[in-house]
Parts: sequence; C-alpha cells; structure tokens
Amino acid sequence: MISAQFRSTIVSRTLCLAAASACLAVASPANAWDPASPDANCTAGGKAFSGPPAVVVHTAEMDGFGLAEFFQMLQAISDIHDVVGNVADTSMAITSSSFSSDPFTYQTWYGDTTPTIHVGFSSSAPFPARASRNTSAACTYDEAHIEISNQSLYPWAFGEPEAEGDPFWDAGKWPGGLHSFRLMYLHELWHTFGVAHSDHSYSIMNKVDRPWHNRPAGEQFQPLPDDVEALRELYPDSRGDSFHIALLNTWHDLADPIGDAISHKMLCRPSIGNGWADFWDASRLVGAAVDDGLDTCGTPVQGDGTDVCPGDTLRTRVAIANYDTQSVDMALRMWFSVDDVWDGVAGGDVRATEVRNFTVNAEAASLQGRLFTVPDLAAGEYYVIAKGVATDAGGSKVNDWIPLRGTVNVLSPLACGN
Ligand SMILES: [Zn+2]
Repeated sequence: MISAQFRSTIVSRTLCLAAASACLAVASPANAWDPASPDANCTAGGKAFSGPPAVVVHTAEMDGFGLAEFFQMLQAISDIHDVVGNVADTSMAITSSSFSSDPFTYQTWYGDTTPTIHVGFSSSAPFPARASRNTSAACTYDEAHIEISNQSLYPWAFGEPEAEGDPFWDAGKWPGGLHSFRLMYLHELWHTFGVAHSDHSYSIMNKVDRPWHNRPAGEQFQPLPDDVEALRELYPDSRGDSFHIALLNTWHDLADPIGDAISHKMLCRPSIGNGWADFWDASRLVGAAVDDGLDTCGTPVQGDGTDVCPGDTLRTRVAIANYDTQSVDMALRMWFSVDDVWDGVAGGDVRATEVRNFTVNAEAASLQGRLFTVPDLAAGEYYVIAKGVATDAGGSKVNDWIPLRGTVNVLSPLACGN
C-alpha cells in the first residue's frame, strides 16, 4: 500500500512531466482522498469508471421488504442518484436506473462493456453493505457491484432524519435507531466510483456517524468536500456552480481508527465551562474510544454547563464545509432561537455580538471551536444556531445555518444574581 503522501508526490511529478505549464496548478494537490485501486499511472492516481455508469437493481435475492419499504428504498436510491448528478465540476452521474430479475452474486462479474453498477441483496452478507470494482490492468473499468443486506437480516432506515423521528441536525448514522440506507448507499457508490475509506480527512468515507445537511427533502445527505474533490479529480468537468458551503454538526477523529478508516462523530453540545472538553459527543460513541464522558463542549462548572446567564461565555463547535474550488472567507455568528429554525432579527432571533472570521481552504472543511457571549435574553430554553456567510475572491456570498446540538437554558435574572 502506497502511503497517501508518497502517491501524491508521484501524481504531481507525472502531471508536471506531462505538461510543464500545468505544474503551477497541480504542484501540491491536497489529495485528501484515497483511490480504491491506486495506480500512479492512472487519472488522479487511481482507476476509475470509463464513464458515468447506469445502475441495475437485482430483485431476485430481495427478502423482507414490505411494499412500503420497497418504495421508500427506491425513493432513497433515486434521491441519492440526484445528489450525485448535482455535484458541480464533475462529469460523474448515474445515467439511468433499472431492475433486473437476473441472479446477483457479489463479485461474480457479468462482463459489462459499458459502465454499470449492479446493486444486489443478500441474506448472508458478512457486512451491512460492501462494494467492489471489476478492475483490470487498464486504468478504467466498466463494472462494479454493491451488495446490500436484506431487510429481513438487517433492517434499514430509508427516510431522511425527520421522517425517522430525528431532527436533521441531531442525526448521524442511525436516524430513528436504524442504519441509514441513504448514508450507506452514497458511501458504497463512492467506493464504486474508485474512492477508498479515508483515515485522514473529513469524509463520507469515514465510519460511524456522518452529517445531515440543512437542505430540501431528498438532498439532506451529501458528499463532503474531500469526496467531491475525489470526483473532480477522477471525473473532471465544468458542470454547475461549485460555490457552496455547509455548516455541519460532525467531525472526524484522527485518534480513533476503525480498520482502514477513522471514526466520524457528532459534535459536542454548546455549554459554558472552565475549558474545552473533547470536540465530540461521548454519549453517542459506538465502540471503545477513550473519552472524557462529556457531551458538552466545555469542561463542567456546574451541572452540564447548559444552564447559562446573559454575559456568560458559551463554548461552541461547528464544522464548515467549503465545496468551492477556491478558498472562502467566512464570517461565523451565533444566534439564539426559541425554535430550531433561523428566523433572523426580524423573526425574533437574537445573535451574540461577536463575529468570528477565518478562511476555509478550497474543497476542504474546518472544525471551529469558538467562544460567544450569551446575549441579553429572557429566561427560557433556546436553540443555538450557527450561521456562516462565505465570501469568495470575487465578492460573491453564500450562507448556511444549522442548529447546534442540544439547547441552552437561560436562567432567570434572580438565578443569575441580577
Ligand atoms: Zn466502505
């Protein structure tokens, strides 16, 4: 296995030799993603589909799906295909999807000569789902398989979080308590596109939790910037507009490897505290990671630190994903709202006075741990909503917001000693 650093050097040199004038543009590729079939002689250092694939869903081995679940699964597949087709600056898309009654056996290849992803089901699969490519000596391939455990063996959650009973901003891998089919399917598709697990970047190719986005229905599960970068390097194109950001409630933990990946965790809840606690929510951990037992962003002062007074310093964490091919200048503010929707000043939401400014690199994400002063608020429970405005080099702006996890309870003036 060639290390990511070594491979990225090979890629740079190959490209520079091939076109000296291109050296400036590719001298230091971030290469925040790993190819599933590394080959320094191939596009972006890995093997790739010869073109955008069609998906064939094999029904012969399906078991345990009720009619409603079957249609929910088709909707999930259709939504995720649309998400792929809407990624800017790549030619990758799912060209069509169809059914077949032909039997499916994982890695028993059909010998496709046009790009095809076969999706099949199993009641004896060793994993909830897995994917592989029929790679040859050439740099491109035309066939990939995704095997999914049957509903009778491993029940899936097909809907987006709200449909499964969880708010999108508080959902990870298990909305409603079941493994998200949408999360799994996008992850497996990325494997078929030629992308391996990531043990070093903020990616859907991590394991355990992954973030849901503040987007319309059908679009709430999305690839992250490093995943998009992989498609842009493997399947370049100038489609669409890449200037887009997302504020998210997860991060990857470099200190918590799982096989060839690292774990991805829900972020801590905003709180006051004497110092910073771990960035993640320990109460949601799966497995045996070392943690401090806290799910709040501050080390405890009293209670869990979510009973606050105006003037207190609130510790917050939020991830900012920049999908643009250029770095963006961010202005981050923190709002307090009686509901989990950002309504602005006109809608009665109140913002902390601070504006936190920083840069997020092109096709990258940034975990921000920031302090904000609790504004003068009436006693009661408030959602803490992070809102960020990104400005590109040309002065254009885009924004996004997300309620941070949990709520804070603003105490009465009496309790606050006023
Ligand atoms: Zn995987």
